[in-house]
Amino acid sequence: MSAFTETYNIHTHSFYCGHGSGTIAEYVREAEDKGLQLLGFSEHCPFPDNFLHRSRMDYSMMESYERDVRVQQKEAGIQILLGYECDYFPRYEGYLRKLKESGRVDYLVTGTHFIERSDGTRVSPFSSILTLDEIYRYRDQFIGALESGLFDYAAHPDLFMAGSSAWDEVHKSVAREIIGEAVRLSIPLEINGNGMLKRQAPDRFCYPFGPFWTLAARMGASVILSTDAHSTANLTLTKARLEVFAHQHGVTLVRPCVSAGGQLKWSGAGE
Ligand SMILES: [Zn+2]
Ligand SMILES: [Zn+2]
Repeated sequence: MSAFTETYNIHTHSFYCGHGSGTIAEYVREAEDKGLQLLGFSEHCPFPDNFLHRSRMDYSMMESYERDVRVQQKEAGIQILLGYECDYFPRYEGYLRKLKESGRVDYLVTGTHFIERSDGTRVSPFSSILTLDEIYRYRDQFIGALESGLFDYAAHPDLFMAGSSAWDEVHKSVAREIIGEAVRLSIPLEINGNGMLKRQAPDRFCYPFGPFWTLAARMGASVILSTDAHSTANLTLTKARLEVFAHQHGVTLVRPCVSAGGQLKWSGAGE
């Protein structure tokens, strides 16, 4: 197994999300063992009405999750940050803003896991190849999240390409709009290692999608690497591969660190 040089991971899930495993303490031990210096927990954020409950913890469990992370933050030998990965829908903006301003969290990341169609039904890019209309809706939801000002970075922006074998003018223009908005707002975009564990074809990850990142590099996006681990075994599994991928596509990396106030901030990375 090859080594990695970026000693952070701030996209991490645990048993709390219901589709992952490992306690908060077990992750911290694994991070210390593997030489990470900064570990951020970003559990899928529940909503007060338990909307999307099948992919996240119950709303009532937030307190326990936050307590577990805060305990480790005091006891661990490495830096720990407490966050949530949030699906953004304008109707929950007030809730998310309150959470952000509550002092309970150190950062919020957005990920667009569900797209709402005009008839009120939902589709996930994880399980379906998106139609044209759904791709545009993905773009609008993603850009809405960026523009909300709530989020410190944006996870797997190229998820709309999962399952797709096309990369035509529509895909390119959607990618350009998403990347352009992230650049304009100085919000880092994430290359996500979890999709490297799901191969779509022998020569193709489910995500990240290479041409998206070539474009991101050309447009000057700031980029962060995450394993998006859902088990302790996967905490650093794709880290070296992520660095190779980033290098191959020529992206500009930024590195998360901890501000004096204990919040997430960014510094330049690489030589
Ligand atoms: Zn998850
Ligand atoms: Zn995600």
